[in-house]
Amino acid sequence: MSVGVAILGSTGSIGRSTLQVLARQRERFRVVALTGHSNADLLAEQEREWRPAFVGLVNGNGKGEAGRRKGTSCLVEAATHPDVKIVVNGIVGAAGLEATLAALRAGKRVALANKETLVMAGELVTAAAREGGGEIVPVDSEHSAVLQCVAGRRPTELARLILTASGGPFRTWGPERVSRATVAEALKHPTWTMGKKITVDSATLVNKALEVIEAHFLFALDYDHVDVVIHPQSIVHGFAEFVDGSVLAQMGFPTMELPILYALTYPDRVPDQGVRRFDPVAAGSLTFEAVQVDRFPAYVIGREAARVGGTAPARFNAANEVAVQLFLEEKIHFGRIAEVIERAVAEDTHSGGDANSLEDVLRADADARRLALEVACC
Ligand code: NAD
Ligand code: MG
Repeated sequence: MSVGVAILGSTGSIGRSTLQVLARQRERFRVVALTGHSNADLLAEQEREWRPAFVGLVNGNGKGEAGRRKGTSCLVEAATHPDVKIVVNGIVGAAGLEATLAALRAGKRVALANKETLVMAGELVTAAAREGGGEIVPVDSEHSAVLQCVAGRRPTELARLILTASGGPFRTWGPERVSRATVAEALKHPTWTMGKKITVDSATLVNKALEVIEAHFLFALDYDHVDVVIHPQSIVHGFAEFVDGSVLAQMGFPTMELPILYALTYPDRVPDQGVRRFDPVAAGSLTFEAVQVDRFPAYVIGREAARVGGTAPARFNAANEVAVQLFLEEKIHFGRIAEVIERAVAEDTHSGGDANSLEDVLRADADARRLALEVACC
């Protein structure tokens, strides 16, 4: 009997990669539910190919969409569908939170790409998994790497994680040039092809700050034991250091298909012929550098928000979502992203604010969005 899968955000980069993986694994998995935001044409194409029981379009315009569920409630419906065992959350941003919580409470496995969910509400999300019997399995390549390294080990044996970062397109640029970088320049990622928001987050290194917070919640390590190293080739995806000093790393040519497949089959591995086999000679020299923090101010703000805890990470995430959107709309310069985030999270940096309920988190999120817009003056 095949395992039922829901894909939230099936029209996005993660969603499309997931369907590519599933196309090779039709004996093991079947697509039960698909949701998209506004790309009705691609969703219709996916529906014709996969014949899912449930299709939801968050922002439909009504044309040719008979039989679809509409509006944001379709996300929770898809995530809690009785025939679904695994929910691949490939939604970008805070919009994915309620579906993640609902799936975990309903005892599903959430294959989580939507890292913003864990950043905003790490305590609530991990509590929902504990209480509902669901589990969170990361899709993010760095966290998948760590999970593969720690599989079979006791949590007390893990001493430190090192997440790798490509450094993005501006790694070698001077600060002046970076501050005036265009949208097209920011979207030219050296090693990965992804959605626009995460590509900009990779250029600011906000993505890595989000991933540090994600790692803290997934692997229950304090922030002093989650390090980041710049690795421009994106071959080593993550390292796990154990209490005896031994270090394991996971590597491969950059592709999201392997972490997606592993999140679906974890803790097992299954035969798959879809991705380019690793060749160390073709991979060439691997280099590692410390993060130059003066080049990536938004990363520093993110790590500080992580340390403060409470609602600070939710505020950081929300302000970043607003700033990135404004940058993509060419309303602010690249250099202002960090400034907007800094001022929008500043109100909370000392107290941290409680993040004990969904209301607390959503209030912090809304407040930081409002402040970020005000600061950006548009
Ligand atoms: P994307 O922009 O390509 O796709 C996101 C999808 O989410 C959209 O296609 C849409 O279907 C859906 N969506 C967008 N806004 C929505 C809303 N308000 N409500 C409901 N659905 C909405 O982004 P992506 O690159 O696929 O990234 C998705 C998530 O995965 C992000 O959290 C990102 O950080 C994470 N991630 C992506 C990659 C990658 O390689 N693309 C790698 C690691 C992690
Ligand atoms: Mg990643």
